[in-house]
Amino acid sequence: MERTFIGDLNQKIGEPALIRGWVSVRRDQGKMIFFDFRDMTGTVQGVVLPKSDAMESAKEARTEYVVAVTGTVNKRPDKNIQADKLNGDIELQIEKIEIINKAETPPFEITGDTSAINEDVRLQYRYLDLRSERMQRNIRMRSEFVQKVRDFLFKQKFTEIETPLLTESTPEGSRDFVVPSRLNPGKFYALPQSPQQYKQLLMVAGFERYFQIARAIRDEDLRADRGFEHTQIDIEMSFVEQEDVMSTVEAMLIEVAESMGRTIKQKPFPRFTYAEAMEKYGADKFDMRTAEEKESGVLAYAWVYKFPFFEKTDEGGWTFTHNPFSMPIPEHIDQLLKKENIGEILTTQYDIVCNGFEAGGGSIRSHDPNILRSVYEIMGYTKEETEERVGHMLEAFKYGTPPHGGLALGVERNLMNLTNETYLREVQAFPMTRGGQTAVMKAPKPLTDRQLKELGIKVDLPPKKHD
Ligand code: ASP
Repeated sequence: MERTFIGDLNQKIGEPALIRGWVSVRRDQGKMIFFDFRDMTGTVQGVVLPKSDAMESAKEARTEYVVAVTGTVNKRPDKNIQADKLNGDIELQIEKIEIINKAETPPFEITGDTSAINEDVRLQYRYLDLRSERMQRNIRMRSEFVQKVRDFLFKQKFTEIETPLLTESTPEGSRDFVVPSRLNPGKFYALPQSPQQYKQLLMVAGFERYFQIARAIRDEDLRADRGFEHTQIDIEMSFVEQEDVMSTVEAMLIEVAESMGRTIKQKPFPRFTYAEAMEKYGADKFDMRTAEEKESGVLAYAWVYKFPFFEKTDEGGWTFTHNPFSMPIPEHIDQLLKKENIGEILTTQYDIVCNGFEAGGGSIRSHDPNILRSVYEIMGYTKEETEERVGHMLEAFKYGTPPHGGLALGVERNLMNLTNETYLREVQAFPMTRGGQTAVMKAPKPLTDRQLKELGIKVDLPPKKHD
């Protein structure tokens, strides 16, 4: 017999069916044994009646055993119908249970919500945690979200392009993760903090509309809403102004969220200048929902724009607030080129805020090498240092560069809003622990002496402190 997915069993009422999956619950009532079985499409109740041939294997089967079950799909008696539940109106009258694979008792209960279980244990056994209904829902919702984003962008003539993971350090404002090069001893790659420069080079290359579901890797302090690795919907467009990028992204978010059944508080999304946001909310990320809207999962999007381009460093110099590749607002280009009133120069940066989080951000870029050069001069770089940092961009911009701009949306942050979860780990399949330890596997760990030798690396750690 061919396998039927549990989610399709209600189309086979009165017929025999074969399901494959896990034993989720087993209730031995002596004469009869009840089960809940689970596969990727849902759960169904099964019953082994007294004197059934399946009784012997039913006595042996335990929760989390992998089984193949044959039986007849029956309508439940009216009094037992659970109308609000998938398969709440049917049950499988079991004729045969084949035990495919046994299971030890899991280290924690996975039939309920696992969020209160100790994080280290949950992540050590992440593959079991992921079996729980909530985690299955969250991870599937992530896939649905990304698929809908892709669908939207393909309809708008975007091309999906991958960019390198082993690359040069980018000035995105965080610490880099570095990878030693065996072929070039003493030299290092950096993992990308974002594909910023590559996506701009793709605009020089004439792709005009690029996107990537891109991994961004930053060595930052870990927080509830931030890990070392996160995924961005990274977008760049040519021949656009601020308004074009904002309206494309806004249309995308509306289409995606509404097709996932969500309500958006206000359309078009309200817009605040940075100064207005600071005055009204005291922050550039804010939550506009009422308590009731929070309860019902409403999404309150807003744009924040007209950010200062530069801020003072601790040493009294200037650094960029968001992105050195941004264009100042058109009225401030002159000021930037002349390096006047630097603190007042505004950038074309726009951030999208949703339910208190920064859900994404981007800008129009300076495709004119003189502007990019001035940004680096303001930040105190010499000509040579600028050349060393972004010389390849300045060179590329010499060969016919369209005006361009883009944005990146954080997949996890958007998913946290869609699922109403507070922690990044609830929407990532294999997140790290707060101490930066990988789920299930044991990274980071020391290299072998042979590896170190091959790489020409000596580890020189300060002696361990003893208490
Ligand atoms: N590269 C920026 C970031 O990762 C986003 C952008 O400006 O497109 O935050």
